Amino acid sequence: MGDILKPIVTSPTFILARQLSLLFLAVFWVATVFWTWRDANRRGAMPWFWALVVLFFFPLMPLPGWLVYMVVRPPEYVEDARERELEIRAKEVALQTTGGVCASCLKPVEPDFLICPYCMKKLKKPCIECGRALKMNWTVCPYCKTKQE
Ligand SMILES: [Zn+2]
Ligand SMILES: [Zn+2]
Repeated sequence: MGDILKPIVTSPTFILARQLSLLFLAVFWVATVFWTWRDANRRGAMPWFWALVVLFFFPLMPLPGWLVYMVVRPPEYVEDARERELEIRAKEVALQTTGGVCASCLKPVEPDFLICPYCMKKLKKPCIECGRALKMNWTVCPYCKTKQE
């Protein structure tokens, strides 16, 4: 068996091919470790731990460590999560301060503004009797009980 393989195994082409594939494997290994580290970093999921898992598992079997990481990694990037959190926070603030922002240009407005001073959007209507700011869909003034036309 060894005798049959010997000319192939010792031929320069085979040695070159073997070295090239080892080199390729090494590059792939480093790239995988780096990719895992960067990906875990962006997801806020213990980048060094996962980089080491991939680093040490790779020589045994190239993919299990990386596959485990792919399964257990957080589903979204940290920036995405933070951005979504900020968006929700902004919406909550806007809801709490009723009439706090113009629905059209999102600039801050006072609750008794009739139009937005920034984009001229109609925000409220004045009561036909007492002139106080009413929401556009109110049919009666809650201040003076006057029905609105
Ligand atoms: Zn506006
Ligand atoms: Zn009124």
